[in-house]
Amino acid sequence: MDARQFEEFGKAAIDFISNYTENLRERDVLPSVEPGYLSKLMPNEAPRQAESWQDVLKDVERLILPGMTHWNSPQFHAYYPAGNSYPGIVGEMLSAGFGCIGFSWMSSPACTELEIITMNWLGKMLGLPKEFLNCSDGPGGGVIQGSASEATLVGLLAAKEKTTRRIKSLHPDLDEGIIKAKLVAYTSDQANSSVERAGLLGSVPMRLLPTDDKCRLRGYTLLEAMKKDEEAGLIPCYVVANLGTTGTCAFDVLDELGPICNENNLWLHVDAAYAGSAFVCPEYRYLMSGINYVDSFNFNPHKWLLVNFDCSAMWVKNAGYLIDAFNVDRIYLAHDKQGQALDYRHWQIPLGRRFRALKLWFVLRLYGIEGLQNHIRRMVKLAHQFENFVNSDDRFEIVTEVSLGLVCFRMKGDNSLTRELLDRLMKRKRIYTIAANYKDQLIVRFVVCSRMCEEKDIEFAWNEISSQATEILIVSRNQTARMFENGELPYENLNGKMEERQR
Ligand SMILES: *Cc1c(COP(=O)(O)O)cnc(C)c1O
Repeated sequence: MDARQFEEFGKAAIDFISNYTENLRERDVLPSVEPGYLSKLMPNEAPRQAESWQDVLKDVERLILPGMTHWNSPQFHAYYPAGNSYPGIVGEMLSAGFGCIGFSWMSSPACTELEIITMNWLGKMLGLPKEFLNCSDGPGGGVIQGSASEATLVGLLAAKEKTTRRIKSLHPDLDEGIIKAKLVAYTSDQANSSVERAGLLGSVPMRLLPTDDKCRLRGYTLLEAMKKDEEAGLIPCYVVANLGTTGTCAFDVLDELGPICNENNLWLHVDAAYAGSAFVCPEYRYLMSGINYVDSFNFNPHKWLLVNFDCSAMWVKNAGYLIDAFNVDRIYLAHDKQGQALDYRHWQIPLGRRFRALKLWFVLRLYGIEGLQNHIRRMVKLAHQFENFVNSDDRFEIVTEVSLGLVCFRMKGDNSLTRELLDRLMKRKRIYTIAANYKDQLIVRFVVCSRMCEEKDIEFAWNEISSQATEILIVSRNQTARMFENGELPYENLNGKMEERQR
C-alpha cells in the first residue's frame, strides 16, 4: 500500500467510524451470533495475493459488525464504561502512526516527556497530594499502565521487594526466599477479580476480607486479619483499597485503613479504576478522603474519562521502589542521558510501551477540565434519572445507595423474578445490563456508560425494563392461577402469592 492509497483507506475508515458511532443507537446493543460464527464465514487460509482495501472494509461491515457488542451504544449499561471519544481515537491513530516503543527516554524523548507532563496535569486535576506528582521534586510520579490489573500487580511486586529488603535489613541472616514465602496481602471480598489475580501472579496470598453492610473494608477488619497472620509468623506487606468496587461502587474506608498501613509498613495501593475519573469534580473528592496515606493510586481514564483503551493512570509516592523491583540493565538499553531522565521501563512489567500519552493529551486539551467535569456530572445526573424511574414503580427496589453512574436495583420478591428479567433483557438485546449479588439478593447493575447516552435513552431503557417486568408478572400470575385451578394450591396461597408478586 502506498501513501496515496493509505490516504484514501484512512479517510474511508474515519468515515466508517463516524458513521458507525453516530448510528449506534439504531443497532441492537448485543449481537445475534453463536460461538464459531466467524470461522463459518471466513476462508481457512490467509489470501495468497493482496486484496483491495475496499473489499476488506466491506467485510468489516459484513462479518465483523454483526459480531460486535456495542460498548459505546447509548443502550450499553453493563460492566463499566469503555472510554471513547473522537479526540481519543485520533490520539490512537497518531500513536500508531509514529509507532515508537518508548521504553527509555532516548527511545523517544517526547513519548516519555509528554507522559510525565500529562500525568502531572491529570494528577492536579484530580486533586492528588503533590507527593504523587513528578513536578514536586520528590521521588513521586505518574505512569500510564495498560490496565488497572497491571497497576495492582506492579504495586504488589514493589511492596514485595520493599518489604523483603526491610526485613532483610532487620534480620540479615534470614534467607530472602524464606521472607518472600511469608508475605501476605489484603483486599476486600468486593475487590475486582484482577486483585486476587495479582496475588496469584505475584505469589503472595491475597486475603479477601469481609466488608461492612455498605460493602466497605474497615480498619478493624484489616487489623484483626493482620494480627492473626502475624501470630502465625507471616508478614503483612500489601493492601489494595477499593474506591468504587466493580459490584456496587462501594468505597473502602481509607481514613481507617491508611494509618494502619502506614504504622505497620504495609504498602497501600488504591484501585479506583472506575470511580477515579469522578475526582476531576471537586464535589466527589470526599470519596477519596485518606488519599494522603496512600503509596500508589490508580484509575482508568480508559473507563470513565473518554480516553480509549488502554490508558490506566498510576501514581506512586516513591518511584524508587518500582525501580528497585524492576530494574534490570543491559548494555543495549544504556544511553548517555541516563540518570538525568526517567526511563519508564523500570515502572512497568513489559519492556516496550506505546505512546499512550498522546490520546490522553488530546482528550485533556480538546475537552478541557470543564468539559470532562461536565461529562461526569451529566452521567451521574442520568443515573439519578434512572433511579427516579425505579423509585416511582413499586414493583422494584433500589438495593444499594446510587453511587456515581451505577444504579443497583431488583424486582421485589423472589430472586427468580430478577433472574427472569435479566434473561429476558439479554435475549431481547435492546439494552445490556448485567447481574451482581448483594448479600443473598440478585441485583441488576445499571451503569450509565456511553458518552452519547441521553435522557431519552434512559427512558428507553426504563420502558424496556418495566414492560418486561409487566410480562413476567402476568406470566407468573397466570401460572399461579393455573396451579390453583388444578388444585395444586389452596385458595389462601393464591392470594398470598399474588400479593407477593405484585408487591
Ligand atoms: C474494571 C476494573 C478493574 C479492571 O480494570 P482493567 O483496566 O481492565 O484491568 C479493576 N478494578 C476495578 C474496581 C474495576 O472496576
